[in-house]
Amino acid sequence: MAGFYVHVPYCRQVCYYCDFHFRAALKDKPEMLMAMRKEMGLRKDYLSSPVVHTLYFGGGTPSALSIADLSALLDTFHRRYSLSSGAEVTLEANPDDLTGEYLSGLRGLGFNRLSIGIQSFDDNCLRWMNRRHTAQEAIRAVKKAQDNGFDNINIDLIYGIPAMSVSQWERHLKTALSLDVPHLSTYHLTIESRTVFGKRKNRGEDFSVPERESVAQFDLLSNICEKAGYEHYEISNFARPGLYSRHNTAYWRQIPYIGIGPSAHSYDGTSRQWNVSHNAQYIEQLLHGHEKWYEREILTVSESYNDYVLTSLRTMWGTDAAVVHKKFGKTFAEYFVRKAAPYLRQGYMNEQTAVYTLSHKGKLIADRIASDLFVV
Ligand code: SF4
Repeated sequence: MAGFYVHVPYCRQVCYYCDFHFRAALKDKPEMLMAMRKEMGLRKDYLSSPVVHTLYFGGGTPSALSIADLSALLDTFHRRYSLSSGAEVTLEANPDDLTGEYLSGLRGLGFNRLSIGIQSFDDNCLRWMNRRHTAQEAIRAVKKAQDNGFDNINIDLIYGIPAMSVSQWERHLKTALSLDVPHLSTYHLTIESRTVFGKRKNRGEDFSVPERESVAQFDLLSNICEKAGYEHYEISNFARPGLYSRHNTAYWRQIPYIGIGPSAHSYDGTSRQWNVSHNAQYIEQLLHGHEKWYEREILTVSESYNDYVLTSLRTMWGTDAAVVHKKFGKTFAEYFVRKAAPYLRQGYMNEQTAVYTLSHKGKLIADRIASDLFVV
């Protein structure tokens, strides 16, 4: 099993909350595509097998690329790698890019899953975040995608927005569910320092949301989605049974993957590497340079254990003490069980046949619990 990620580092507009790597100017796109195709070739032996089970175009905004651009990238991919039968092939897209013609082009290229960045069904919130589309355009985009044969669709939504009430959030969730998509990814707004919001916060703007509001919105999210038949299979992700994001699930299960493009990360089972987060440097180093365009680190046993705990605990499949024992040894397994014990007693975690999962209230402090279980 292995995954393949392609990072498209362009967006048409800057969303004020966004901390991903992208540039809003596409003028170096031809060189970028050349560099990405070159990287695919240079790293054809990174994975132990050329057969991948998931292919994911993320960003940035992959739908900022034309069908011809995507076709060129896929052409290089198919020369070096192949997809297993029934592979999941995802494109992240913004609603305003999804015309009928574009959607049928995507189908023709083999994409079978879309992750649509909707973020909100309220036009004021969308404007406040500097999104390019309206709520109605987002709804129309989902329906158009379904009409064009995409039934495997994720939509992204943001909650914990300062001016958004619990009842507004409930309306957004009901709108999302009315679209009958099998997957929702939901994120509490966080203000990162290098974003537009982060800079405004540094100048004194208040983005705080009372904790009881955040908790009420998370509770509502979980209740509404579970009642509608979605599984809360990862802290931020809900899916109809079996329709999980196979690509992201592979990350959480430590399955190797290769990442192509600026800022993309890769993992081969024993080491991690990450590409330079700078478009011009990435192009320069791949097309003309003699320096590496990436950094690499071999993971220590403690780092591998921490990664396993961090990612597995976030999922409904949980952290298996037997797996900890098998992969990292008795000392780590005993350490994990000892550190988890207070959280079990206080109802933040559940345990069944040595598999530890977060309870609902545990999910609210997942990062704190995980870091407490880490070996430092
Ligand atoms: S949220 Fe998506 S579309 Fe907006 S700037 Fe970030 S990557 Fe681009």
